[in-house]
Amino acid sequence: MGVIADRAQQARVKNALEPEWEGRFEPRSYGFRPGRSCHDAIEAIFKTLCGTRSQRRWILDADLAGAFDSIAHEPLLAMIGAFPARGMIREWLKAGVIESGRFTPTGEDTPQGGVISPCLLNVALHGMERAAGVRYRNSARSDAEPVRGCPVLVRYADDYVAMCYSREQAEQVQARLAAWLEPRGLRFNQDKSRIVHVEDGFSFLGFDIRRHVDRQGSGKLLITPGKEQVKRLRKRLSAEVRALRGANAAAVIARLAPVIRGWSAYYRSVVSGRVFTGLDHHVWHTTYRWARHTHPNKPRGWVTTRYFGAFNKARQDRWVFGDRGTGAYLTKFSWTKIVRHVPVRGWASPDDPALARYWADRRRKQEPPPADQHAVRLWRAQDGRCPACGEPLLPASHEPRTPSEWEQWFSTARQMLRKQHVTVQAGGQDRTIWRLLHASCHWQLTAAMAGLPA
Ligand SMILES: [Zn+2]
Repeated sequence: MGVIADRAQQARVKNALEPEWEGRFEPRSYGFRPGRSCHDAIEAIFKTLCGTRSQRRWILDADLAGAFDSIAHEPLLAMIGAFPARGMIREWLKAGVIESGRFTPTGEDTPQGGVISPCLLNVALHGMERAAGVRYRNSARSDAEPVRGCPVLVRYADDYVAMCYSREQAEQVQARLAAWLEPRGLRFNQDKSRIVHVEDGFSFLGFDIRRHVDRQGSGKLLITPGKEQVKRLRKRLSAEVRALRGANAAAVIARLAPVIRGWSAYYRSVVSGRVFTGLDHHVWHTTYRWARHTHPNKPRGWVTTRYFGAFNKARQDRWVFGDRGTGAYLTKFSWTKIVRHVPVRGWASPDDPALARYWADRRRKQEPPPADQHAVRLWRAQDGRCPACGEPLLPASHEPRTPSEWEQWFSTARQMLRKQHVTVQAGGQDRTIWRLLHASCHWQLTAAMAGLPA
């Protein structure tokens, strides 16, 4: 048999393996698990480090060398136990057909984790919190509360931080983890692992996390978009616009809008105000330079009048880049409202039938994606559900995880969702209302109305 582990087969095995493990996985592991995101990981860190009473101030900021590709097969298979597809997984591992890719959203590119590799990685690293010395007060409770005195470890796939009471404890955790990782074929990347004080700051999942202390000595934990990520984004925006020299304003808007929306969606849950404003200035400069280049013989005033104006009627902003022809305009980073992310409860699994209400509530309270204002209003009015089938408009598992996935989301949003206007009877009068539907539901409805087979 040629070992062609096609993605569909891997997906089937993953779908069988996942629910079995979801109920057992440790509470502060967030990567590639249904209903959990980078933002949950960041919130968990925030909760541990914020406040004057928080005493875990030493951070073990560690990196695994090789990660998925180096995992020892036998211990992993032993963990998997008597799972039916165990033989198949063994074959795949042996043949090296499971793509590993990158798991964490540190760059602009989408993490290309394979179909089943993130799940296998989670299985292989299951028990890491315990090995680091993390203890929870009552494992039956959903909001796992760590025992005082023990470290807290937050993990996203192969990326993690341990928050400790002292440098000594952090060193201890590092030594314990090194010993635990060794038989699993894994080790620390020595160059990238360090122990820092929270006032010196560290980075995780593209966020910078640091405790700032003012002159009075009171500290405040600030989580901001990562400096590296901001730098890379600025470079990218400049390059994109430069590449569009000779194109028209509509092309610039079409190219940049998903990037801006995607990026601000990912970072809207932290202290991003200043960074957003800075990025808006940057976009202004790049688009202005682009416009000047497009019309080298026109005076500045002519160029600014042509391309900048109060295109967005809801905003008092005369410096919005737009297309006079169509009225389309470029959205700004700072228009995205900063919203607090509601962290997921420690042990909660979406597969647990007893928690069905919890997950439904959570989905309902979730902030809608920062789409256009009309869509957001419809989203709210419909409780985030599709009126045709009653299912969530955006399944929790399809929620974008990274800036680039958000970007993709906005690019394809038109294919996923449809706005539809329908006529309803209200007070004896016909009234036209808008609603937001799944594209597939919309298609079925239109097909049914037209008497076509759906
Ligand atoms: Zn639907």
